[in-house]
Amino acid sequence: MPAFDVAAIRKDFPILGRSVRGRPLTYLDNAATSQKPLVVIKALERYYSEQNANVHRGVHLLSEEATTAYEAARASVAKFLGLKDTRGCVFVRGATEGINLVAECWGRSNLKAGDEILLTHLEHHANIVPWQVIAERTGAKVVVTPVTPRGEVDLVAFKGLLNARTKLVAFAHVSNALGTVNPAVEMTRLAKAAGALVLIDGCQAAAHFKVDVTALGCDFYAFSGHKTFGPTGIGVLWGRPELLDAMPPYQFGGDMIRKVDFAGTTFREAPERFEAGTPDISGAIALGVALEYIMPIQAAAHAYEQALLAAATERLKAIKGLTIVGEAPEKVAVISFNMEGGHPHDIGTLLDADGIAIRTGHHCCMPLMKHYGLSGTARASFAFYNTLEEVDCLAVSLEKARKMMA
Ligand code: PMP
Repeated sequence: MPAFDVAAIRKDFPILGRSVRGRPLTYLDNAATSQKPLVVIKALERYYSEQNANVHRGVHLLSEEATTAYEAARASVAKFLGLKDTRGCVFVRGATEGINLVAECWGRSNLKAGDEILLTHLEHHANIVPWQVIAERTGAKVVVTPVTPRGEVDLVAFKGLLNARTKLVAFAHVSNALGTVNPAVEMTRLAKAAGALVLIDGCQAAAHFKVDVTALGCDFYAFSGHKTFGPTGIGVLWGRPELLDAMPPYQFGGDMIRKVDFAGTTFREAPERFEAGTPDISGAIALGVALEYIMPIQAAAHAYEQALLAAATERLKAIKGLTIVGEAPEKVAVISFNMEGGHPHDIGTLLDADGIAIRTGHHCCMPLMKHYGLSGTARASFAFYNTLEEVDCLAVSLEKARKMMA
C-alpha cells in the first residue's frame, strides 16, 4: 500500500467509530454520499453558534463576518477547481441543480429545432432528464454515445456523432454506477473542435482526484458538496463567466438584482446572478472547509484508493459466481457487481447484517442498466478512509452471502 496514514484520517471522521447491527461500521457507499470530517461538522456548529447572519446585506459585524466566510468558501471552491478567479463559481444545491440550471438558462435561449445535445449511455439521470426536457421544449434532439462492454465511452462513436448540429456535449467525468473515468480532456477537445459547448458532471470525480477545469477545457462543471465530504444541500456549478453572464437567470429575488423598478429590472453578473434569495450560507462555509481538508491529501488519497481498488477487485474476482460490471482500465474505487442466484437487494441486505453499507439497484442509471440487460447491481464504493481490513470484511461477507443464496 502507498504511504497514507489511514488510521489518523479515520480519527477525523466521527461516524466511522459507530457500530451497525453489533458490528463496526464498514461504510462502502461513498458514491451515494461521503462521510464528514469533524472540521466540517464543527464549521456548521461554529457558524450557527458564532456567526449566524444573512450575507451581502447587513452593515453589522455578524453579517460582515458571515459574508467574509461565505466568500472565502467560494475562494476555496475556485482553488479546488484550479481557478484563480471565483467569478464563475455559483453555489447551488448540488450537481442536479447545477445541470438543471444550465439546461434551463443556457438551453432555453440557445437551443432550437434541429440542434443536438450529445450525452453518453452511462449518464446519471441528473445528466439525462434535464436535457430530455429542454429538448422537448426547444425541438432539439438528445443523441447518445454508446459504451463498450467494459463500460467505457466508445470514443470512435463519439467522434462520429459530433457534427455541426451538436450544440452541447454533456458527460460524466466519472461514472457513478461503474467507476469508469472518462477521457474528459480528449472528449472536451473533440467536442470543442466540433463547435459545441461542454458540460462535465463532476459529481463522482471531485471526491477522488484533482479537478482542473482550465486543463479540462470545458465550459461548465458541476459537483455536489455531500459527495466531497461536505454537507448536503450545497454544491457548485462552475461556468465560464462570459457564458454565465449571457445566460438569463431562472430564479429571481434578493441579491441577484442590480436595480429593481416597476419599469423593469436589471440583473447582476455571475455568480450572484444565479444565487437568488438567501443561500445555504452554513453549507457553503462547511463545503469550503471540506475542500480545504481534502486538497492537501488529494494526491496521496488517490494513490491509496487505487491500491484499495486493486485489492478489492482481486478479492471479489476470486468469489465464485461474482461478476464485476464495468472493467474500464481507468476507474475510481468503485466496484459494481452481481452474484449468481442473488438479487442485488438480497446481497445488500445480507451485507448490512454484517455492518457493511453498500448501494444496490440501478444507481439512477436506468439506461446503462438496460444496456447491460440488468435490473441493477450491487456497488461497493470506497473513500480514502476505508481500509484493507474493510476490503477483507466485504469479501468474507460476500462469500457468506454466496453460500446462503446458493
Ligand atoms: N451525477 C452523478 C454522476 C452522480 O453520481 C450524482 C449523485 N448520485 C448526481 C449527478 C446527482 O447528484 P446530487 O443528487 O447530489 O445532486
